Amino acid sequence: MNTPPDQYGVVGHPVAHSFSPFIHGMFARQTNQHLVYRLYDVPPAQFRSHVLEFFARGGRGLNVTVPHKLAAAELANELTPRAERAGAVNTLALHGENQILGDNTDGAGLVQDLVVNLSVAVAKRRVLIIGAGGATRGVLAPLLMLGPAELVIANRTLERARELAQDFVDLGTLLCCDFNQLPEGAFDLVINATSASLSGEVPAVSAAVIGAGTVCYDMAYGKEDTAFVRWARENGCSSALQGWGMLVEQAAESFELWRGVRPETAPVLTALKRQSQIL
Ligand code: NDP
Repeated sequence: MNTPPDQYGVVGHPVAHSFSPFIHGMFARQTNQHLVYRLYDVPPAQFRSHVLEFFARGGRGLNVTVPHKLAAAELANELTPRAERAGAVNTLALHGENQILGDNTDGAGLVQDLVVNLSVAVAKRRVLIIGAGGATRGVLAPLLMLGPAELVIANRTLERARELAQDFVDLGTLLCCDFNQLPEGAFDLVINATSASLSGEVPAVSAAVIGAGTVCYDMAYGKEDTAFVRWARENGCSSALQGWGMLVEQAAESFELWRGVRPETAPVLTALKRQSQIL
């Protein structure tokens, strides 16, 4: 093939640990797309100029990760309805001649993994989401659309949970609290959307949120069990899962937006787990 490959990548800080080049490389081979996907470690002060230069030089699309998701929402010329709702962007795409479209695929990725891959029920269930950062912003609307009986956001800093609850309350029953004010009783689903696992910590939430039937899901992932997954198992949950599936599913949503073709995720998830030695 003589034409140069289309340029894609992920911008974060730090970003060296990212599995996105592996995932998008597999998607591209599977669907015969001629592209390259690179890592860009860019500190916040350079985020805007880096992204604008990337697209000015013919780049076609970027994933955006910590800590740039809110800045990406401000930079985009246009937002998809789900990115607008989230106020955070994890995917940028060249749109028309020189417009940049912002999307948020985190929520769709989580829901696809929970509901389709893992057959976890959300409708009419009690759901607790721990954390009120960018990832929670992205997943609240799709979770509420599944019709949980109750959705509680618990955050270390109560004010951030309050802001989120205000922004999304029109979509369903949404409660917020800090870690000391959690409603009584076990939840059916507990999602860890804090970044505590990245430093080997567990959010200081009472183990009373876990019962024998509770599914625990850590958005974080690692070669070994995350601290949250270990804690959930020690406290008798029914299953404890890491966010590998969410990672691959949100990537597939981005890939489809960029290339107009939906890659198969199951073989990529299997290869990723093998690659990261967690099988
Ligand atoms: P943010 O930095 O936006 O938010 C971090 C959140 O974690 C805040 O609510 C913060 O609380 C809380 N927090 C951090 N440390 C602790 C701690 N020690 N104890 C309790 N709470 C803590 O991060 P994101 O929302 O972007 O990401 C959250 C997690 O989700 C990360 O682990 C990330 O890797 C993962 N993620 C996974 C994805 C996947 O595809 N699997 C996709 C997106 C994210 P406070 O407000 O009090 O500071």
